Amino acid sequence: MKKIVIAIDGHSSSGKSTMAKDLAKEIGYTYLDTGAMYRAVTLYCIQHGFFEGEKIKEDALKAAIDHIDLSFRLNAETGRPDTYLNGVNVEKEIRGMEVADKVSPVATLGFVRRALVAKQQEMGKAKGIVMDGRDIGTVVFPDAELKLFVTASPEVRAKRRVDELEAKGIPASYEEVLENVKKRDYIDSTREEGPLRQADDALVLDNSHMTLEEQKAWLLEQYHKTIGS
Ligand code: C5P
Repeated sequence: MKKIVIAIDGHSSSGKSTMAKDLAKEIGYTYLDTGAMYRAVTLYCIQHGFFEGEKIKEDALKAAIDHIDLSFRLNAETGRPDTYLNGVNVEKEIRGMEVADKVSPVATLGFVRRALVAKQQEMGKAKGIVMDGRDIGTVVFPDAELKLFVTASPEVRAKRRVDELEAKGIPASYEEVLENVKKRDYIDSTREEGPLRQADDALVLDNSHMTLEEQKAWLLEQYHKTIGS
């Protein structure tokens, strides 16, 4: 069967990763969480003292970027890929509030974006991949056969993030998460390189009032329409 690239972009905590993971599993595609890559680079910066308050030591990160090895390995327990930074499983650490707070400024840096976009293009060149992020349908794979843009209200997204963090045993306050969601939306949509933007040919899904099952069914329908089956 014809293999395609499925690009899923959208706002923070819009549920796009869950949708993307479920779809990839269902249709036997590889799943790539590009947000996890930006998060892992941010964790690297924290671990190596590259933050001075809000400011990033850009020269230090520039010198290190080619030595940051990012990979994904399937976690047999969850059935989903975990993120590895230089061979170490960092899946839990990259989901915490410290990384969430610092990731958007790291993701505005042009040299970081270019390095990660190149890796993402390499990982997706054989097709048969579902990739989620902010710039997949616009920059990474502008020719993706199926592009989706997922959103929901900031309040719904913050509530989902709190539930998700709590389920993982990471304590979080709703107000703090809501503020973080809004701040990341702002930084992500106003940066110069690869801003969060809906591709002209993307299908938009506002899932504020949809169940996971409804989203899953909608997404599968779009996939079948695209491959003509
Ligand atoms: O998707 P997730 O919320 O995990 O992404 C974390 C952050 O990484 C986003 O807020 C955004 O700043 C950045 N990001 C990006 N481009 C992508 C994926 C994520 O700039 N393709």
